[in-house]
Amino acid sequence: MAEITPEQVLAELRKIAAPDGRGNIVSAGLVSEIAVNAGQVMFALNADPQHANAMGQLQKFVQDRVSKLPGVAKAIVALTAERTPQREAGPKQQAAQTLRNGIPGVKHLIAVASGKGGVGKSTTAINLALAFKANGLRVAVLDADVYGPSMPKLFGISGKPEASDKYGKRMNPMRRFGVEVASIGFLVDEATPMIWRGPMVMSALTQLLREVAWSETDVMVIDMPPGTGDAQLTLAQQTPLSGAVIVSTPQDLALIDARKGLNMFVKVSVPVLGLIENMSYFICDGCGKRHEIFGHGGAKAEAQRLGLPFLGEIPLDPELRQRSDAGEPIVATVPDSPHTKSYRAIAEKLWIAMEQGMGQKPAPRIVMGD
Ligand code: ADP
Repeated sequence: MAEITPEQVLAELRKIAAPDGRGNIVSAGLVSEIAVNAGQVMFALNADPQHANAMGQLQKFVQDRVSKLPGVAKAIVALTAERTPQREAGPKQQAAQTLRNGIPGVKHLIAVASGKGGVGKSTTAINLALAFKANGLRVAVLDADVYGPSMPKLFGISGKPEASDKYGKRMNPMRRFGVEVASIGFLVDEATPMIWRGPMVMSALTQLLREVAWSETDVMVIDMPPGTGDAQLTLAQQTPLSGAVIVSTPQDLALIDARKGLNMFVKVSVPVLGLIENMSYFICDGCGKRHEIFGHGGAKAEAQRLGLPFLGEIPLDPELRQRSDAGEPIVATVPDSPHTKSYRAIAEKLWIAMEQGMGQKPAPRIVMGD
């Protein structure tokens, strides 16, 4: 049987009346983008949390209806509290606020972002988290890089999280080096290719934020998906971030991307707390000399041009890579290394910036248009 197309699913959804009686659920803007993969149909319904019960029923109804369509192997319908562009007034803004209201018990959320992949964003995120921990704070890491979750490997954690209550509604975070971690990588097989569309990313991340039984936490480090696409923008917009840091290599190309990363946060009014230059220079094993292979200093100059704090530089060091690959991150395993000291100094600056309220948000904020 031919696989169903998103258009055919939409046609069916247009037959279902919107809960407020105004048109159908598609015209009312309740339906996200629809993903179809090997007969599996996935999409989200935008729920108004005030009518959670009714939306729960609608979700079951819609899921049932779509699963019965010819060519559908399985239908997965998630409820999200996501803003949709079609209708923005009143309750929808409140829906977007549910995430923005913060995570109970978590004081600051900080995003580690980069304009493109491969610049060492995840390596920086884990080592910064461990540096906050070494500086005496209670720390958690949320791996929001759903396209390529690397925290299980970087933390050297395998296995699946346990349910935190008998109903199985929430799960415990994983824990190593005294830091709590949640990652989609713990929930899906590493070999499974993950196809995510914007709304699904948000709904998966909402679950990781909301349905993990986090302990009291001073700072939660969020490893953002690389790049500046819609998913990243939505995440930056809908997560109650105290601030963001941008990781960049010194190459010009990466700096152009870093600027895009910066602009993304500026667009959604998240303070960018500074820039970290990664793989800044190379210290050769053999001669012990410092080689500035990438034209060192580019990030610092760029930070100055942009009026951003330059937080520090981390050299390209094979030991850093080996330890990361082995799940033994340098800050946790070599406390007196110069790199550990650099990360701790950066973490100190970031903590001060967050505590001084540089990262504080104005109280309830209207969700901005694109
Ligand atoms: P991203 O999250 O930006 O995609 P990663 O953190 O996964 O990047 O890093 C990409 C690769 O570069 C990894 O193999 C990592 O170990 C390595 N790496 C990152 N930073 C450094 C560094 N400062 N020195 C040496 N290797 C590094």
